[in-house]
Amino acid sequence: MSTAKPRSLALKNTASPEILARKRVWIFDLDNTLYPAECNLFAQVDQRMGEFIAKQLGVPFDYARHLQKSYYRQFGTTLAGLMRVHKMNPEPFLEYVHDIDVSVVPDAPKLRAAIERLPGRKLIFTNGSRAHAERVAGKLGVLDLFEGISDIASCGYEPKPSAAAFDSMIKHHGVASNAAAMFEDMPQNLEVPHKLGMATVLVHSTYMDHPIQRDMRSWSALPEHVHHLTDDLTAFLQVIDAKTDGEPDTGT
Ligand SMILES: [Mg+2]
Repeated sequence: MSTAKPRSLALKNTASPEILARKRVWIFDLDNTLYPAECNLFAQVDQRMGEFIAKQLGVPFDYARHLQKSYYRQFGTTLAGLMRVHKMNPEPFLEYVHDIDVSVVPDAPKLRAAIERLPGRKLIFTNGSRAHAERVAGKLGVLDLFEGISDIASCGYEPKPSAAAFDSMIKHHGVASNAAAMFEDMPQNLEVPHKLGMATVLVHSTYMDHPIQRDMRSWSALPEHVHHLTDDLTAFLQVIDAKTDGEPDTGT
């Protein structure tokens, strides 16, 4: 479990959501983006990753935690490291780590209303499993608003932030990058979408367990690949909704 306390960023809500009004494909990360980090759901996943590694590799829990975090930093996700270094089968891992109590996820009627009013297609793009995304989005009350879910299996177990993961998602769902906006709590996962021509929105999460996230506290300006920053996804989307008129971006 992360011991990092919620900390504010020096930068706050630099967003100009209205300039996203012409986008027509809305792509959302799941964990700590669609649901608020404060509900601590991901802390349960994090704990169970350590338990699974300890059991599977027959190592003490503390060492398992060390491996978990090392692989996360080195390979993008813990699972990617387990698959490459230990040739681990991903399915039992995903089943175990996502066997969590989702009752902590709040119903989110305002988020639902804001997503519903966005014009165009809506997708979830997660490094977790489809079953996890369906359970969590169902608990939020937003699942039926999404046309599709790109999960880690559908990306051939290549996680974000790799270009291959974005390539899989784009091909699978026929996404025109220039018409799309990507919402994420991990800044490194916005580098590829920025290069592809998507609008990028960093949803500030209080759950920080990656060095790149911790670096955010000292940002004095947004990096090039982060176009917008918000600590309130619902409020951000509500402003887009208020401005959605005019001709859409058609993309490439
Ligand atoms: Mg996330």
